[in-house]
Amino acid sequence: MPLENMKGMLGAAREGGYAVGAFNILDYNSTKAVIDAAEQLYAPVIIQTSAKTVIFWGTWAIISWVKKLEWSSKVPIALHLDHCKDLRLIAECIEAGWSSVMIDASAKPFEENLSLSRQVVEMARPKNVTVEAELGAIVGVEDDIHVKEQDAHLADPEQAIKFCKEVDPDCFAPAIGTAHGVYKGVPKIAYDRLEEIAGKTPIPIALHGGTGLADDVFKKCISLGCAKVNISTQLKYAFIDGFVEYHNAHNTQYNPLKVIEAQYEALIAGIIENINLFGSAGKA
Ligand SMILES: [Zn+2]
Repeated sequence: MPLENMKGMLGAAREGGYAVGAFNILDYNSTKAVIDAAEQLYAPVIIQTSAKTVIFWGTWAIISWVKKLEWSSKVPIALHLDHCKDLRLIAECIEAGWSSVMIDASAKPFEENLSLSRQVVEMARPKNVTVEAELGAIVGVEDDIHVKEQDAHLADPEQAIKFCKEVDPDCFAPAIGTAHGVYKGVPKIAYDRLEEIAGKTPIPIALHGGTGLADDVFKKCISLGCAKVNISTQLKYAFIDGFVEYHNAHNTQYNPLKVIEAQYEALIAGIIENINLFGSAGKA
């Protein structure tokens, strides 16, 4: 099945009251784990790349992993560029074959964010590439974007509606109190804002900072309109712990393929758990 953009899968998810998992990959092994998990559960899925990962490997390496796996796949797969501030990198990914991109101009003043996000929609839409745009500041560290807690602010519902109307993104990421990285306490989710925003726009909403949220938090956010859930930190942990734990348990073996297999198993277990939780199993 050829790569799809996020439009159809997120539209169906928002309608159907479930969410599509967007998983940040790091290499071929993690890309394979995401696609295999989606296949096993017959779920649509979003392969997500951070800007840093794209810069590290280059676009053609990543496209080759995804294309290799996607041609035999029976589930809809989107390849999405996560938080990107750089319009040149966004253009490069669109050119290389990403089916979806995120413009993160959330650190800019409202009008500037609006105009940059609009610019990306104008660049992407003619190429059938979907766009996610962010409003408010999501706390934590995502790539080279650091947002300190005192600088984090939630998306204002009135601004959010104006933003959605004028930018018309395919997916909207309002800051609602979730955070990137590892939660230090119990996060305070602004359900009221989420509900107000979702009540006034049919645009599918993205939930960032998914790692570490309780199951009932996911379920509530999804029931209120979140149709895309981002999981990154959890996979970073599985990627490294899967590797290290296997080696520690077999430290005389030095068999790299075994280590890679153990890493794959750790990744796929977490991805399957998430897809089941988000309700997208069987929705391909
Ligand atoms: Zn994010």
